Amino acid sequence: MKDVQTVPVVLILLGPPGAGKGTQARMLEEEFGLVQLSTGDLLRAAVVAGTEAGRRAKAVMEAGQLVSDEIVLAILSDRLAQPDVARGIVLDGFPRTDTQAGALDSFLAEAGQKVTAAISLEVDDEAMVGRVSGRYTCTCGEGYHDTFKKPAVAGTCDRCGGSEFKRRADDNADTVRERLRAYHAQTAPLIAYYDGKGVLERIDAMGSIAGIRDRLAAIVRRVSA
Ligand code: AMP
Repeated sequence: MKDVQTVPVVLILLGPPGAGKGTQARMLEEEFGLVQLSTGDLLRAAVVAGTEAGRRAKAVMEAGQLVSDEIVLAILSDRLAQPDVARGIVLDGFPRTDTQAGALDSFLAEAGQKVTAAISLEVDDEAMVGRVSGRYTCTCGEGYHDTFKKPAVAGTCDRCGGSEFKRRADDNADTVRERLRAYHAQTAPLIAYYDGKGVLERIDAMGSIAGIRDRLAAIVRRVSA
């Protein structure tokens, strides 16, 4: 295992696909200088780069199922070895299984760290199908939605002014239902795991993006004080 950096704050965003983990993690990155670590983004980059891990993960991701713990942990431990994580991290989409949660505890323990807070974004499943099916992203990483978050000027990114957008191959209604199933079977039990450790926070994530951000920011200020 590679050396783990000292990480001052370790936040985990838990929640089903569409709960807003990526959007909120990017906001926490901007507001608190944390580093967003998304295993989904790391895996999609591996698919595009055509690495061995990416080749093995591609079909599993397109089917809406979970990539093996072995692949995900290898990718995440490489990322945790980079120096920027010393600023503090917000994990988005990781851990997703009890094996991953245990491995994260071990990585952190090697650096004398532990999870600061695991924040569960609580939402209605049915609404998630609509949320995920309409979403798309600018190449700069800014996320949009056909109904809930349109750019101020149609076709132009609010953040970078770019006009190239992409939609994920797994953001269609059938795959979202499979991803929700995987979430409830394998990831939702982690809510009780972190509750048992006394680090669980729950927030209602059905309101506006700005409202959720404010609730989240209040928690981050409290747990990092
Ligand atoms: P996400 O971008 O977090 O919605 O992840 C997209 C897809 O990548 C998931 O549906 C899984 O196939 C895979 N994936 C991302 N993170 C993990 C993880 N921690 N464990 C297993 N599979 C993952």
